[in-house]
Amino acid sequence: MRQSATLIPTLREVPADAEVKSHQLLVRSGFIRQNASGVYSFLPLGKKVLQKVEEIVRQEMERAGSVELLMPALQQAELWKESGRWYSYGPELMRMNDRHSREFALGATHEEVITSLLRDEVKSYKRLPLNLYQIQTKFRDEKRPRFGLLRGREFVMKDAYSFHASQESLDEVYDKMYEAYSRIFERCGLNFRAVIADSGAMGGKDTHEFMVLSEIGEDTIAYSDTSSYAANIEMAPVVTQYKKSNEAPVELEKVNTPDARTIEEVASFLNVEASSCIKSLLFKVDDRFVLVLARGDHEINDIKVKNYFEATVVELATPEEAKEVMAAQIGSLGPIQVSEKIEVVADHAVKAVVNGVCGANEDGVHYQGVNPERDFTATYEDFRFIQEGDASPDGQGIIKFAKGIEVGHVFKLGTRYSEAMGATYLDENGRSQPMIMGCYGIGVSRTLAAIAEQFNDEKGFVWPQAVAPYHVHVITVNVKNDEQRELGETLYNQLLDRRVEVLLDDRQERVGVKFADSDLIGIPVRVTVGKRASEGIVEVKMRQTGESFEVHVDEVESKIMEMLAK
Ligand code: ATP
Ligand code: MG
Repeated sequence: MRQSATLIPTLREVPADAEVKSHQLLVRSGFIRQNASGVYSFLPLGKKVLQKVEEIVRQEMERAGSVELLMPALQQAELWKESGRWYSYGPELMRMNDRHSREFALGATHEEVITSLLRDEVKSYKRLPLNLYQIQTKFRDEKRPRFGLLRGREFVMKDAYSFHASQESLDEVYDKMYEAYSRIFERCGLNFRAVIADSGAMGGKDTHEFMVLSEIGEDTIAYSDTSSYAANIEMAPVVTQYKKSNEAPVELEKVNTPDARTIEEVASFLNVEASSCIKSLLFKVDDRFVLVLARGDHEINDIKVKNYFEATVVELATPEEAKEVMAAQIGSLGPIQVSEKIEVVADHAVKAVVNGVCGANEDGVHYQGVNPERDFTATYEDFRFIQEGDASPDGQGIIKFAKGIEVGHVFKLGTRYSEAMGATYLDENGRSQPMIMGCYGIGVSRTLAAIAEQFNDEKGFVWPQAVAPYHVHVITVNVKNDEQRELGETLYNQLLDRRVEVLLDDRQERVGVKFADSDLIGIPVRVTVGKRASEGIVEVKMRQTGESFEVHVDEVESKIMEMLAK
């Protein structure tokens, strides 16, 4: 590719709206341009890298036995109504009507489309298992599109779906996909971990997320400092055994706590530790109210609450709802003498509290001397977020936290979609059975951004060879100089003949601009054709190490091949 004939609009300034390195550099180096919030054009260099990532994904998917197809982005509402997600997916699903007022959605994901396809095309166990994937543009009207390609409203995803006649077959393919994902992210050069995850709106059970470790990640990973255990903190079980202190129980009494609402305020007002306070949060669990308790120094994990109640929606009650249901404001709620209509559940740690403090369901009043098993009844479960320093759930080591960017997700869906949509097959005995499903997603454009986030320095990108837009950047210092221009052209054509991916800077620009652009774009090898062109001497420089040397054109090709092979 000739730079004079392509579009690489580099910028010297950091774009004002770009908060993170990958977003800043992808815009500055002319790889992407924003069109609308969360909607981007991939300019020629961006498209090149995207293709490289896609190609790695394709190769590993094919190796693992998945086959490519392409489904429509425009999807009939009927299918989403069959699965029920037309009603549960929420405003992230972009909806529209056609000219006949028929409802459609722009594909946010493709479980519905593929399940309807397999329902029609596969009737017998003999055709199973099947594992199909596509690489396609997805649409999600994200609440907060941000960080450029990391959270877009239109983005490229690889999504695969597998169909099985037995759980064992699903387990086998799931493991293959897990391996394929590990290979994909390794080949992309990413520092990642596979973590145990929550299945969210997808309705699956076994699931792992592939997380790229990064400060800017939105997810927190809890990992063991000694074993390979890693989980999304939303999912990590707490296995701590709590011991009661030997303190003698005292009498329960009410105390006035004017203006003290938060645990910190109450603890400091009463001069006690947060860990002897009991936090009471009123949740709306589908259509009923539940009071959830945790120790004052712990955080309630609403996903654990959701899973415990097998609920669809779990949200905190509003102050108005709390007032109505508990007759007290949110900062004064507690489990003692609560109406029987309200279920009280508590995290295990609460049981071990001795002479604690909790709200009295009277504004500005708390109880002191609270001894849980004596003073109220509750069902005890693991309801809190794991914390740094907790024991690792696998029994090995201590938990530490890291931030991660989710680039991939593998799920065992089971029969959630096949049952809802009637995707059945006939088994060996001629009985109709719902197909067992798995689904496997990779954010391809997000992976590109995660690589961009990891591979850069103060001058710009430093692409790993596996995904670099080009391998060699030939820069002709002065294109008006015949010798330089001709040597640049010769070299460019020679490299093309050898199937080397090469970008030629044949622009009439100052050399300073050319070098700065070249550093910004970050192609692994740079060849500069300058003053010594008349002697047939060029300079070769590695972007990553800065190492450079002069070499005669006759040897430059073999030198480059040698370096690229490293
Ligand atoms: P997130 O929690 O980040 O919103 P998700 O759980 O909604 O992700 P999935 O439905 O599992 O994501 O989609 C599969 C993959 O698609 C994700 O692992 C992620 O890499 C990518 N992805 C999801 N949403 C976006 C987005 N808005 N922009 C770019 N990539 C995305
Ligand atoms: Mg999402």
